[in-house]
Amino acid sequence: MFNSLSDKLDKALHTLKGHGKITEVNVAETLKEVRRALLDADVNFKIAKEFTKRVQTQALGQDVLTTLNPGQLMVKLVKDELTLLMGGETVGVNLGGSPTVILMSGLQGSGKTTFSGKLANYLKDKKAKQVLLVGCDVYRPAAINQLQVVGEQIGVEVYAEVGNNNPVEISQNAIKHAKANGKNVVIIDTAGRLAVDEEMMTEISNIHKAINPQETLFVVDSMTGQDAVNTAKAFNDILNFDGVVLTKLDGDTRGGAALTIKSVVDKPIKFIGTGEKMDAIDVFHPDRMADRILG
Ligand code: GDP
Repeated sequence: MFNSLSDKLDKALHTLKGHGKITEVNVAETLKEVRRALLDADVNFKIAKEFTKRVQTQALGQDVLTTLNPGQLMVKLVKDELTLLMGGETVGVNLGGSPTVILMSGLQGSGKTTFSGKLANYLKDKKAKQVLLVGCDVYRPAAINQLQVVGEQIGVEVYAEVGNNNPVEISQNAIKHAKANGKNVVIIDTAGRLAVDEEMMTEISNIHKAINPQETLFVVDSMTGQDAVNTAKAFNDILNFDGVVLTKLDGDTRGGAALTIKSVVDKPIKFIGTGEKMDAIDVFHPDRMADRILG
């Protein structure tokens, strides 16, 4: 995860390690490399520039009595800024409501169905919840089958209505079914398209309005970099979602999506997906991720 970014930042920050003190020149040289590393990681130019500017201001404004040497100081400042860039705080999932309704959104292939299963499994095992998974992809029967396979694997009931092609109705019926059967969390997996289109946006927006979920999560493939960020913007404009799920962080992702999605949509990354198996889910902690990046 983020191997290339880690290596480049490490090299950039290493140049300061031999210096006795922070100067305008050595800070500028280091930050030029930091900026290049961020750009190579697919962070957009404006965000990368503002990032290094903030670090520069802090580095040059430091009290000379700091106990950290220039190398350590710069690592600390960059780590703190990376943490802030990724949202600062850890933000959990809202489990209010009875039942809690969680709506999953995102493009086809982003990992929505897999993540719905992972989240169901996590809430069942870690939070002792009775979960109902709902298949709402009325266009692809294979997607419902996939959810049913996932449900069987983790021992969670899957609600679907074969023959009904109205996802609003299916969602509403599923919530009734959950109430009648003692379920306290309903996770609704919706249809995804290969690209943002009006029909898809109208459909998910209608479901969203009809069921008024406690939590709307936007799932995105972290390998898609700036495209992920643009898709997030389009979905957020329609849904004003509550949080982001970044999938496929186990792949060789450059890091751009993880680093910039928060600044662009101002919504926290809540979970990450780190593999295809049902237990490959983690709550996202910006500080731990920054630690990991700076190794
Ligand atoms: P959906 O179309 O959005 O429902 O996407 P799927 O859940 O079907 O996932 C698409 C593909 O990505 C499948 O082959 C999944 O196994 C895979 N996938 C999903 N999440 C992850 C992840 O975190 N890591 C990896 N390596 N693969 C994932």
